[in-house]
Amino acid sequence: LHREGEKLITTHCSYCGMQCGMHIRVNEKTGKIAGVEPRYDWPVTNGKLCPKGVTAYQQIDHKERIKRPLIKKNGKFVESSWEEALSLIEEKFTETQAKHGKDALSVFGGVSMTNEKCYLVGKYARVALGTRFIDYNGRFCMSSAAGGFIKTFGVDRGSTLPWPELEHSDCFLIAGSNTAECHPTSIQWFWKARDKGAKMIVIDPRETPTARIADVHIDLKPGTDSALANGLLHLIIKEGYVDEKYVAERCNNYKELQESVETFTPEYTAEITGVAVEKIIKAARMYGASKRSVVMFARGVEQQSKGVDNVTLYTSLALLRGQIGKFASGVATFTGQGNGQGGREHGQKADLLPGYRKLTDPEAVKYISNVWGIDPKDMPKPGVSAFEMFDEVQKGNIRAMHVICSNPAVSAPHTEYVWDSFKKLDFMVVNDFFLSETAEFADVVLPATTWAEDEGTTTNLEGRVIHIRKVTEPRHESKPDWMILSEIAKRMGKGKHFQYETPKQIFEELRIATKGGKADYHGITYDRIDREDGVFWPCPEEDHPGTPTMFKERFATPDGKANLPVVAWKEPGETPTKKYPHILTTGRVVYHYLSGTQTRRIDFLMEQCPLPYVEMHPEMASQYNMQEGETIQLTTARSSMKTEVKLTKAIRKDTLFIPYHWGKELAVNQLTNPCLDPISRMPEFKVCAVKIEKI
Ligand code: SF4
Repeated sequence: LHREGEKLITTHCSYCGMQCGMHIRVNEKTGKIAGVEPRYDWPVTNGKLCPKGVTAYQQIDHKERIKRPLIKKNGKFVESSWEEALSLIEEKFTETQAKHGKDALSVFGGVSMTNEKCYLVGKYARVALGTRFIDYNGRFCMSSAAGGFIKTFGVDRGSTLPWPELEHSDCFLIAGSNTAECHPTSIQWFWKARDKGAKMIVIDPRETPTARIADVHIDLKPGTDSALANGLLHLIIKEGYVDEKYVAERCNNYKELQESVETFTPEYTAEITGVAVEKIIKAARMYGASKRSVVMFARGVEQQSKGVDNVTLYTSLALLRGQIGKFASGVATFTGQGNGQGGREHGQKADLLPGYRKLTDPEAVKYISNVWGIDPKDMPKPGVSAFEMFDEVQKGNIRAMHVICSNPAVSAPHTEYVWDSFKKLDFMVVNDFFLSETAEFADVVLPATTWAEDEGTTTNLEGRVIHIRKVTEPRHESKPDWMILSEIAKRMGKGKHFQYETPKQIFEELRIATKGGKADYHGITYDRIDREDGVFWPCPEEDHPGTPTMFKERFATPDGKANLPVVAWKEPGETPTKKYPHILTTGRVVYHYLSGTQTRRIDFLMEQCPLPYVEMHPEMASQYNMQEGETIQLTTARSSMKTEVKLTKAIRKDTLFIPYHWGKELAVNQLTNPCLDPISRMPEFKVCAVKIEKI
């Protein structure tokens, strides 16, 4: 791999939770990035990279990088010095808190950052700014999976098994995940297992590239997952597939679950979900008869107002079959963002402190206050979830916001409400390396580094903590987010709590902060990660081997048993009406990442997929006399947008699909419903009622 005049730095892709292993080629003389090579000895992805991964390096020297701090003057951004920008932030933050109180400031974080940065964002909000209003974009991503896992297992780790074991599984039940496009390098494991005879069941309203390779494709009506899962549980119980010994020894609430699914006959389930009875029976028998099965899901089931319910029910399937804590079997969610797992463990959530400690637990507050060197009385109380922060802006309670590594102007639901909230703020700061749609609303934009210009750790979708190495020096005047936050902290009079020279020092503090918590990183060090090529949490001590397989002996609940929650079927927040007669759902395409801020700037990716579109079944199109390529208008109770029709028989006749990677007038999130899950506070991105019109 090595070429004359170049050095190879081993690291991981910056995008999705797969965190594929790669080497980045750097010109030794100029420091310019020459390209990437896949890393064949990285056991999770074995040399595979997707189109996003092979072009990710092009961000680093991209001409649209923000080079210096920007200050908005008379409605236009003007380049400034760091001194001017930071002084303005200090002045405005201080003035806002003096006038309106500590909680008038807010922080909107993200999880496309290292563990060190995610940890520091939580500390920055609570110690440097002293505000209770902090939440993050993971609320729109992993929060329902987290809520479901806490309910069933007592702890939120996204996968109960390491990925390479998937090769030895004999059945995959995949719900609401278009794995082939969203986590493409995972597909190799399914193929390897299928070569040995493994079966695959895919639950998705669309016949995605993932569904096309399935043995059974369950094309359910969006928003009916809990009915389907109850129906599958009904059959698993009725047809004698329950591992009675496992359930008796390791689960609570089986009798109640058994009673609750009694009415979910295949016929009743079919009536709600719109899926043929035979398919439901075939899927249940296929899953029930397997010996080493894995239930996997993603945003399709989680981004619903019943997302936590959906997660608990699909997880219960695996528990009834006795599949948790064993080789090549278990439950997993596909994390969307690179550090979707680690980013939610270290205190960016409104109610959590590092290590999944709860802000409502006085002992946890005491412990973290001690680590941070503050009086427990000064620890802010829990705030509100990401979308609810915009309600607080509308009410006038939040007056200023610092958005870090996130683009809610595209990724939040009901974006017009979000845009209006940004306009209502007295002052707004954004850290980013491109001028995102969110950054355009800001008063000050601070140039942050890309993933390759700083060091740190991330935690991939398996729960494996890995090393992101510094590949090159920061471009222009950009700085790592941890450095930016530390500098603002100093100006807010809290410098003594932010004395960091390197990310490693932050990680050392994180190790102590998580010690004894549910997400315990205390035994993980940079040296160990390098030596062992990643370490799985929980890992309480340096001589602990880490935990690739979760719950081998006990679950993380007080009595060590898993819970089997009872879930009544409830309709989604919106169902079709006379005015809005169809269902709209959203998702991703292989060529773009999340809000598209990064991938819409890569020429190759834009050549493949330049614009959004609406997928429509030809039968629906013929009712309206709509043609392939025609621009139509879609309207929901919130707003309208125009986009091109893409005809396909790979979608239900009652459903429309639009990918969400574009902003402003191209943002499908103008249409989506901010109806929240009562536990996870996840908005219902995946189901809303819509009407379509010719224009
Ligand atoms: Fe791998 Fe995900 Fe990066 Fe693609 S985007 S290369 S699947 S980490």
